[in-house]
Amino acid sequence: MINKIQSICVYCSSSNRVKQEYKDVAVETAKIIAGAGKTLVYGGAKSGLMGIVADAALDARGKVIGVITEYLQNLEVDHTSLTESYIVQTMHERKTMMAEKSDAFVILPGSLGTLEELAEVATWRQIGLHTKPIIIVNVDNYWDDFLSLIDRMIEEKCMLEGHRDIFQVIDDPKDIIPALNSFNPDVFDVKSKWD
Ligand code: AMP
Repeated sequence: MINKIQSICVYCSSSNRVKQEYKDVAVETAKIIAGAGKTLVYGGAKSGLMGIVADAALDARGKVIGVITEYLQNLEVDHTSLTESYIVQTMHERKTMMAEKSDAFVILPGSLGTLEELAEVATWRQIGLHTKPIIIVNVDNYWDDFLSLIDRMIEEKCMLEGHRDIFQVIDDPKDIIPALNSFNPDVFDVKSKWD
C-alpha cells in the first residue's frame, strides 16, 4: 500500500501551548513522512503543531503543501516557506483541497478544527466517497474519549460495528508506515450502512 501513497495529510493543533510530548510527536511524524519520500499536506499555518510539523518536514528535505484561507492567513499566520502554498476563500474549499491532494490522513492531538477535519474525512469514508487510510496517533491516550464515543455510537446502534475500522489507531508515529502498509481499503462494505 505504501507505494501507492504519494502524499499524507496531517491534521493537528494550531496551538503553541501544547505539551512538549506532542511537539516531539509532531516532529517525529514529519520526519517519518519526509523520510519515506512522501509529501506532507496540511493547513498552511506556522502556529502550533501545524507549524512544527511543516518545519520538521522541510528540515528533513520533504515537500510540504499548505492550504489556508485568506482570512486565516492573518489569524493563524501563514507559513511562508512551503514548497507549495494555496490561499483559498472558504474553509470548505480548504478542507476539500487538502483532502483531494492527500492519499492518507494522520491525526495528532488537536482541538475542534482537528476534530472536525477528522470527522469529515471519516464520514466521507463511511459513505464510500474515498477509501483512504485514516490514522489516529493516540499519543498519551489523547483521543481515548473520542474513541469511547465511537464505542457508544456502536453500542447504541447509531453506527455499524464494522465502521470502527474506518480508523487505524496507533500510539506512536513509528507505526504510521506499518499502519499504511497493513491498510485494507475493502475492510467494510459501504452499502451495509443502511441495512
Ligand atoms: P485546532 O485543532 O482547533 O487547533 O485547528 C486545527 C486546524 O483546523 C486549524 O488550521 C484551523 O484553522 C482549522 N479549523 C478550525 N476550525 C475549523 C472548522 N470549523 N472547520 C475546519 N477547520 C477548522
